[in-house]
Order: sequence, then structure tokens, then C-alpha cells
Amino acid sequence: MLKTLIDLTGKVALVTGGGRGIGEATTRLLGELGASVVVTDLDGEVAEAVASEITAAGGMAQGVGCDVADREQIEAVVQGVMNAFGRLDILVACAGITRDNLLFKMTDEDWQGVLDTHLNGSFLVARAAQAHMVARKYGKMIFISSTSALGNRGQANYAAAKAGLQGFSRTLAIELGPFGINVNCVAPGLIETRMTHATAERVGVAWEEYAAQRASDIPLRRVGQPADVANVIAFLVSDAASYVSGQTIYVAGGPRG
Ligand code: NDP
Repeated sequence: MLKTLIDLTGKVALVTGGGRGIGEATTRLLGELGASVVVTDLDGEVAEAVASEITAAGGMAQGVGCDVADREQIEAVVQGVMNAFGRLDILVACAGITRDNLLFKMTDEDWQGVLDTHLNGSFLVARAAQAHMVARKYGKMIFISSTSALGNRGQANYAAAKAGLQGFSRTLAIELGPFGINVNCVAPGLIETRMTHATAERVGVAWEEYAAQRASDIPLRRVGQPADVANVIAFLVSDAASYVSGQTIYVAGGPRG
């Protein structure tokens, strides 16, 4: 159990896209480690379901429906965290989508939808959160990049957004470091979630076959699980990592950075 090194008791965390996949695993782990967690998802019922399970297990959580690309909605969520808990210590921006296509077939909607969710969504929530973190001179921010930031066929939109998030978080680390705020990026490789199940389905391959093919190219010879990423995020948002900022940590079963 990470709790010997990482104790988030008394901390308040906001996780966007926390209803499924990597965000859900992160939400549950931060809750287990003692944080009060506000979990948002496009689908409010999904967010509420995760929050009620954490509460039923003795933790503290709230679930809220919110589109991260909508400034008013995200600002209302951050204000709601402040109203309920009076502080915001940890932000993890997990919300994400893919709209894969080769460039010549990529529509304006494919391009804009991906940039809006990943880049605008991260910008909007970071800007809303920083005001409260700066005032208390304490904060931890995590943005989710990807190995696709290094280039991936069919993902010009996603790769641009994920590479952008690395520059975004390095810049925030520089601007916000003097106020006691650590900002880092976590860049997963292939992680088994609804998103990657959908990728396998789109290429017409059963998940097991897709995962086995991809695993043969991964040095650790397996695809990742959401917990593999959540564990690294939990470390980075803890005071055990208080001298780590402006980094992109690849969680990819091998060296991709
Ligand atoms: P999932 O599809 O399992 O989860 C994505 C979550 O984001 C869902 O809960 C979804 O909500 C939510 N979401 C999507 N759009 C919005 C929006 N506009 N506003 C609020 N919430 C939204 O995907 P993963 O867990 O795999 O992905 C999580 C993050 O990790 C993403 O940023 C992804 O790009 C990144 N990543 C994933 C990798 C992988 O292999 N799985 C690899 C590298 C990076 P809803 O369910 O309601 O639609």
C-alpha cells in the first residue's frame, strides 16, 4: 500500500474525466489515500456513481457532470469545490477523447473536438484552479499527455494536443513554481480502457488479439492498466514528490520520451 509514502489525508482533489478509465482509477486511489475528491465526468451519473462508492467505503467524494471544454461549467465546478471544501490542493485533468483519422480524411470536427477537450479543457480548469492554489501557496497539477505526443499515424489531432500539453505543463511549472505549485505531465502508453477497446474495435480486432500484438512491441511485454497510471499520479501529487515539477513521466512499459 502506497499510504506509507503517500498520505493525502486532509487534501482536496479535483479529477476531470474521473468517471471512467485512468481518471476513475485515479479518483478511487486518491480517495483511498485520504483525499476528499470531486470527480467530474461528461456524464454526471457516472461521476456520481464513482463518488458514492468512495463515500460508501468511508471516503469523502462528490460527483458532478461537467464538460471540460465549457468555461462556465468548469468554473462553476471549481467554485463548487471551494464552496464545499474551502480549498483545492490537487488537480488531475484526465478528460479525453480520440477522433482518429488520417489527415486527408480528418474533419474540422475531428480536429477541433480533440483540441477542445484536451487543450482547452486543461487550460480552462488550470486557470480556474490556479487562483485558489496561488492564494494558499500550495498546489499540485497533473495533465495527461500520451506516447502519441511523439507521433502516431492517424492521430494528428490527438498527437498535437498531447504534445501541446507537455509544453503547457512545463510553462505552468515555471509560472506557478514560485507559488509552491508543482505541475507535471504523465504520458501513458497503451492502457486498457474504454478508449483503447474502442480503438481495437475500430480496426476490427478483438481486444485480446490487439493487446497481444501491441504487447510484443512493449519492453515489459504487457499493456498497462489504469492503476499503473494512477499510482504514478498519486506519487506526483503527494509531498513525496515535492521537488519534481515541469516533467513528463512516461508510463509506457518502456522508454518512450
Ligand atoms: P476513457 O474513455 O476510459 O475515459 C475518458 C473520460 O473522459 C470519460 O470518463 C469521459 O466521460 C471523459 N470525458 C470525455 N470528454 C469529456 C469532456 N468534454 N468533459 C468531461 N469529461 C470528458 O479514456 P482513458 O481513461 O483511456 O483516458 C483518460 C486520459 O488518458 C485521456 O486524456 C486520454 O487521452 C489519456 N490517455 C489514455 C491512454 C490509453 O491508452 N487509454 C494512453 C495515453 C493517454 P464520458 O464517459 O461521460 O464520455
